[in-house]
This record gives sequence, C-alpha cells and structure tokens, in this order.
Amino acid sequence: MTVPQSPFSALMDITPRPPVVFADGQGSWLYDTTGRRYLDLVQGWAVTCLGHSPATIVKALTEQAGRLINCSPAYYNEPALRLAAGLTRASGLDQVFFANSGAEANEGAIKLARRWGETYRGGAYEIVTMENGFHGRTLATMSASGKPAWKTLFEPKVPGFVKVPLGDLDAVEAAITDRTAAVMLEPIQGEAGVIPAGDDYLRALRDLTERRGVLLILDEIQTGMGRTGRMFGFEHAGIRPDVMTLGKGLGGGVPLAALLARREVSCFQHGDQGGTFNGNPLMCAVGLAVLAEIAGAGFLERVEAAGARLRQGLETVAMRHGFGGVRGQGLLLALDLGRPAGPAIVEAALADGLLINAPRPDTLRLMPALTVSDDEIDEAMAMLDAVCAKLD
Ligand SMILES: *Cc1c(COP(=O)(O)O)cnc(C)c1O
Repeated sequence: MTVPQSPFSALMDITPRPPVVFADGQGSWLYDTTGRRYLDLVQGWAVTCLGHSPATIVKALTEQAGRLINCSPAYYNEPALRLAAGLTRASGLDQVFFANSGAEANEGAIKLARRWGETYRGGAYEIVTMENGFHGRTLATMSASGKPAWKTLFEPKVPGFVKVPLGDLDAVEAAITDRTAAVMLEPIQGEAGVIPAGDDYLRALRDLTERRGVLLILDEIQTGMGRTGRMFGFEHAGIRPDVMTLGKGLGGGVPLAALLARREVSCFQHGDQGGTFNGNPLMCAVGLAVLAEIAGAGFLERVEAAGARLRQGLETVAMRHGFGGVRGQGLLLALDLGRPAGPAIVEAALADGLLINAPRPDTLRLMPALTVSDDEIDEAMAMLDAVCAKLD
C-alpha cells in the first residue's frame, strides 16, 4: 500500500513549520521557491545578524574555503587565532574555546565551572540558574534551562542545577552553598519572551558572586555581538562576567559559538574539552568578518538608532490595537500583546510576507538584521499594523 508522501516527510517533524520552502535571501529579505518575498524580522533567530548572504560573509567563506577548510583542532590555524584575539580584546576576557552551537558552548561553560569548582572550591559543582532561562537543547543545557515545559522532559535530568526566580537576589544568596560553583544567566532572557535581567540585578549578582567566591557565567548567545546596541549585553551594566558564551550572531548564519573565560578561571586540562569541528578555519574566518563589521565605526550607534525606531513603531502599533508595552534593548525587542494573540498574528503576518516570532502566546519577538534599514523597519511596522487590523 502506498501512502502519499509529502515533500516534507523525510525530515523529522520536530516543530510546526509552515509549508514554505526558502530558496534565497538578501539582507532583510527571504525568497521562497515560488519567488515570493518576505521581510524577515526573525533572521534565523537573531543569527544572520548582518542579514542574509551579506557580501562580507560570502567573501570570507569563499576566500577561506579556497585556502583551508579544516586542519583539525589538534593544530593551530590563523582564523581561529585571530578571532580569539579579537574576541578577548573586545570582551576583556582572556581565553576562548570555539564550538559549533550555543548549547555546545554552554555545555563547555558548565564543564568549565565544574572543573573550576573541583580545582579551586573543594569539589563544588552546583550551578544556580534562572527560572524560565534558556541555555540550549543538550541534556545538560536543558537541565540548566528553566523552561517550564521541559520540567519533566527526558528524565532523569543532569543533576546540579538549582533554579531561582529571575530578579530575586535573596533567592540567589540563599541558593549559594559550599557546593555552588557558579551562577549562570542570560542578560536578557530571549526564549522566555525578552525579559531583561536588569542592570541593577546584574551588578548585584556580580557583587554577590565575588563576595561568595563563585563564578558569574553570562549566556550572551542571543544578546552578544551587537544585538543590544553594545558589543556584549553586560556592557550596559558596566560589569564583566568570569565566563561568557557566544553563539547565534557570532557566525552571522554559520555554525559558530564560543566559550570565553578569565585567565584564572580558564582551567581545562588536556582531554577535558574538544570537538572535531571546533575552531575550524572556515567558520572562524566568517566570525572574523562578522566581528570586524560590528566593531566598525558607527555600526553599534546605528543598531541603537534602528532599535529606537523599531521600538517607537511597536509602541504605535501597541497603541492602535490595545497591546501592552515593549521590552528589550537594541534590536532584541518584544511586544507584550496582553492577550494570547501571538500565534494568529505570526500566521497572518507570514501570509502577508512578514516574518516575526511569538516566543510566548502573548508576546511577539523581533530580531531583525542589525543592518536593517529605516525603510524596512517602517515597512515592517506598516505590515504588522495591517495584520493586526485584520485580526482586531
Ligand atoms: C539560542 C540560544 C542557546 C542555544 O544555542 P543553539 O545554537 O541553538 O544551541 C542558548 N542560550 C541562549 C540564550 C540562546 O538564545
């Protein structure tokens, strides 16, 4: 008996996906196989930070592919050395381990904290993390995450994660014991719906972790690389973490992530950490191109200006349709709808050629390319307004 096959049926069905197949991308625009275009304010979940197929990444990829693609992480290569130098200079941290995904970088941060606890804190291994936090989809990073829907998933979880509510300093203070190696959080909880930790809270956590002799790990996978208008999210609070992870925008669309640490904390021993593709020259060459672009004159000022324009546009839409407020920073913004209208808006927007995301039913998240133009922002807001008017 033959079962009719959908063209999508050979892919594992891991998430609901619209029946659209994308074929091309240029800047803020995606094109499907029928040639229809979409204004993309998702950008691969804040990944294609310079937009789709920017000339600088195409050039880095093609030039490096013609020279050296991979020589194994057991040998040094030039792009990895140069990118490590650039990231340490930009962040004030001292050493880098490159990975292929955010989850893998966070997995490395968790291992580094355990190694550090073992070496310097009498075997401490626990990590205090935040409710509703998101750190990835490996078993340990799912265990570190505080996503309510994951609570009972894939049991038994990796032990050693103590969850506290975001913003509750007393809860962190109470959770830190002799077993604690680190406190780990996102400066802005992305998947939870763009919930800022707040500069005061981050400063207080920096003080507290220093006072109690445990590490502060910041997951900047979504907030790093210019997304919030500064190179790293922690800069808004004027602090520096002991350990930081980067991903998403770092590779501008290619799989590249990084684990960074202060020298005194960077205590992996031979054999603790590795990975076949880690720090390969091809991906690192792209990371270098991305970093050069974001660090370029006027780039971050432009992100702030674009963020302010998008915020204003969202506030106007909110006023016209009776939504709540706007959260976030730079070009990582969310519109609080005040009602569970997100999925319907996302679906109607897609039909109209606008890509946005609803991380929660009552929240729209917008993470356009950092290079988005004023005209594109205005066009997106006009489209969103029209979509909401249809649904009102
Ligand atoms: C996306 C994300 C991750 C996971 O990164 P992957 O590359 O999907 O593994 C971890 N932490 C935060 C804050 C993220 O936004």
